[in-house]
Amino acid sequence: MKSIWKKITALPSFPELQENLECEVVIIGGGISGILCAYMLKKAGINCILLESDTICSKVTGDTTAKITSQHGFIYSYLVRHFNSELARLYYEANEDAILEYKSLCKDIDCDFELCDSYIFSLDDREKIDNELKCLKSLNIDAEFTVLDELPFKSVGGIRFKNQAIFNPLKFIKEIVKGLTIYENSHVIDVKGTTAITKNGSVNAKKVVFATHFPFIDRFGFYFLKMFQSRSYVIALKGDDSLNFSGTYIDDRSKISLRNYNDLILLGGEEHRTGKKSEGWTNLKKMAEKYFPNCKIVSKWATQDCITLDKVAYIGQYSSLKKDWFVLTGYNKWGMTTSMIGAKIITDLINEKENKYAKIFSTDRKILRKQLFVNIGEALCGWINFKARRCPHLGCALKWNKAEHTWDCPCHGSRFDKNGNLIKNPANKDLK
Ligand SMILES: Cc1cc2nc3c(=O)[nH]c(=O)nc-3n(C[C@H](O)[C@H](O)[C@H](O)COP(=O)(O)OP(=O)(O)OC[C@H]3O[C@@H](n4cnc5c(N)ncnc54)[C@H](O)[C@@H]3O)c2cc1C
Repeated sequence: MKSIWKKITALPSFPELQENLECEVVIIGGGISGILCAYMLKKAGINCILLESDTICSKVTGDTTAKITSQHGFIYSYLVRHFNSELARLYYEANEDAILEYKSLCKDIDCDFELCDSYIFSLDDREKIDNELKCLKSLNIDAEFTVLDELPFKSVGGIRFKNQAIFNPLKFIKEIVKGLTIYENSHVIDVKGTTAITKNGSVNAKKVVFATHFPFIDRFGFYFLKMFQSRSYVIALKGDDSLNFSGTYIDDRSKISLRNYNDLILLGGEEHRTGKKSEGWTNLKKMAEKYFPNCKIVSKWATQDCITLDKVAYIGQYSSLKKDWFVLTGYNKWGMTTSMIGAKIITDLINEKENKYAKIFSTDRKILRKQLFVNIGEALCGWINFKARRCPHLGCALKWNKAEHTWDCPCHGSRFDKNGNLIKNPANKDLK
């Protein structure tokens, strides 16, 4: 169950931390967020050390579908409704800047970076498309209605954003990490003040950046209330050379996702709250048999992302009580552009420079949203189930995931293998 990126791209290895070190910034987490932060901080002349529990990009980033786009579902009408037009426009500009940054970096990196169009489509809801298009027009965003001829199934059409992109994220990371100070197999057990502590060493810094996907310290920031994790499944198909999509596609309701990678088609979907019942890859396989009958599955994998209360990531100060702690999280399955925006915001905050996009993602924004009550409800249900195995994070009942043979937590999305070893935070230790 390895992603195609992991199958074909070997990343460099780094030593384990076995001493006590000092630096200006310690970054916890070696996914795309942590690595881009380290890269941007280094470029700004700041000396930093990155600590990774496992090996770099072995978690969510290694299993992404790697579309680089500012088209994050039907987000713009949502942002106008729940925030305002100014913020929605700024969100677009932040993401477009991130695409340009990738374009510029990837000029010198062999990572199969390609510009392409990006489409959001609907199987049956034309009104939703029209509303989003109207909103995009009012925000002066370049987008157009398109009939989706190249898809093998019927839809009512989609919205096209031009000049978006795709790449192989691990080939990109392989180049970006050159010259960075990284320790692997160095799980941070706790952070005391501004010192990150691992089993065999520590890093004492002036500032700490949490790039651990789900932040694992609950005492501050209340991320366990503000986020849940959502899992999705992907299959890679090979065999039908005629199916070379000119762009990337996603359907906002069923989250069917399509893109090409060289001669492969990546078909994704089936999203659900981690820990809840799911069909795993079953429906994707049925879909592949129906619409891509000449193809065979060459790889399948699954992963999950943090979902916030209001579809916008949390990037900035970890908590108002922790002025030297910073966080990047809650990418709502759009972490490629958002991590790039985030790395620049964190670098500017640490450098005490203004960043015009920081206010969009500020971590102390309003939390009274419908999703907050859903998250609280899930936690309550998890606590009153007395029979089950419990998550060491906040004590919720774990559910057995038949498709992947893991114990998953429906409250906050922690996961453990069948022997109880931690495979996904916010839990920070194995099951007893
Ligand atoms: C199925 C799927 C498809 C997706 N496709 C897209 C897409 O097409 N385009 C897009 O923009 N986004 C996509 N996303 C989202 C994107 O992949 C993620 O948002 C992004 O990869 C998250 O990166 P990260 O660095 O925050 O997390 P991760 O890659 O998980 O990195 C966090 C790292 O922190 C480490 N860590 C955790 N705790 C500790 C600790 N205590 N000490 C030390 N290290 C620690 C972990 O081991 C891990 O390596 C997708 C998401 C899913 C679920």
